[in-house]
Amino acid sequence: MKASSALGVSGAEDKMRIILLGPPGAGKGTQAKVLAEKLKLTHISTGDILRQNVSKGTQLGKQAIEFMNKGLLVPDELVTKMLTEMFDQPDAKKGFILDGFPRNIGQAQTLDDILKQRNMSIDMVAYLDASEPVIIQRLTGRLVCSACGANFHTKNMPPKKDMICDNCGSSLYQRADDQVETIKNRLEVYQKESAGAIQYYEKQKKLHRLDADEEAETVINNIIHLTAQYNDSPKV
Ligand code: AMP
Repeated sequence: MKASSALGVSGAEDKMRIILLGPPGAGKGTQAKVLAEKLKLTHISTGDILRQNVSKGTQLGKQAIEFMNKGLLVPDELVTKMLTEMFDQPDAKKGFILDGFPRNIGQAQTLDDILKQRNMSIDMVAYLDASEPVIIQRLTGRLVCSACGANFHTKNMPPKKDMICDNCGSSLYQRADDQVETIKNRLEVYQKESAGAIQYYEKQKKLHRLDADEEAETVINNIIHLTAQYNDSPKV
């Protein structure tokens, strides 16, 4: 892919398949939303899909909420089934940016199997590496829009009106799992579970490490720069 086309002007970059890996608070959700728009890819966030299921009170939501509120991983079979359904949606065929999946080596292997059955594969994995103090500061101040999902921050990016989304005027809330104790659990789970997935993509030579303590804009530009090295070879 040429640098110009990496900016989402046109062409085969529409079919890029990217994973954002990294601890909670590394900025995966924020970066993925912007990148999906710039690169014209579908943003697939397993955390967002699970939260939607919880708020709609679906069977999956009821099974997942207990794990989510404790900062634990939702069992693989539930998340995998949910993701498989996503890959059968027409939007996923346009290329996607995956945020929040895989979380462990089992999920990484399952993902490859699911994609292979659909003649697809992952092109690139961006690993967003952030330090614990930065993560805690970001997550404890994070505010999320209840309608459009936009993210704000009490200090780094306060909304213009208190607890109201600048984009759509809906109310903002703090995620139940963004309390300090739950954040620490999530980080522990992340350290324990994710190492296998990171090695998995390192072995496949798809992993790129980025400093995610940097400002969001810098990280996004660095990821876009990386996508430029993927060529326009036709993909299924
Ligand atoms: P996130 O929005 O990515 O921080 O995810 C919020 C919560 O959803 C996590 O703490 C997990 O409980 C659950 N979750 C999201 N993605 C996964 C996944 N791939 N596997 C298991 N649980 C997940």
